[in-house]
Amino acid sequence: MGEIKKVVCASCKREWQCMTGCGLSHALLQSVVREFPQETGDKIMEEAGEAEPLFAFEYRLSVCGGCKNVVSVPVLELEGREEAFIGPCPVCQGEAALIADLDEAVCPVCNSKALAAETEGHWD
Ligand SMILES: [Zn+2]
Ligand SMILES: [Zn+2]
Repeated sequence: MGEIKKVVCASCKREWQCMTGCGLSHALLQSVVREFPQETGDKIMEEAGEAEPLFAFEYRLSVCGGCKNVVSVPVLELEGREEAFIGPCPVCQGEAALIADLDEAVCPVCNSKALAAETEGHWD
């Protein structure tokens, strides 16, 4: 079950609402692939092949420098593949940087380390 997080910057007071985690429909690789752009989806299916490898999928918080938003992007890890597939920013289609640790993340608007998240609810 996924969580809806409200990310707030204590410094500039900007707020974002982001979906994190994954939903029930993401149990199958075929449905996970739909969260990615066509081109990436094709590549994922090609690499997965017939083997149907184990995978881990979730939406993760990230910071987009392009449109200066905190967004959630789809992240897929395939077993046996070192690099994860990461989807683009849903707002500007640019490349968003995953947030590993929110305490260390910098607000894309005011560049302060002042982001905090609270769980607002659940989805799926
Ligand atoms: Zn800020
Ligand atoms: Zn963006």
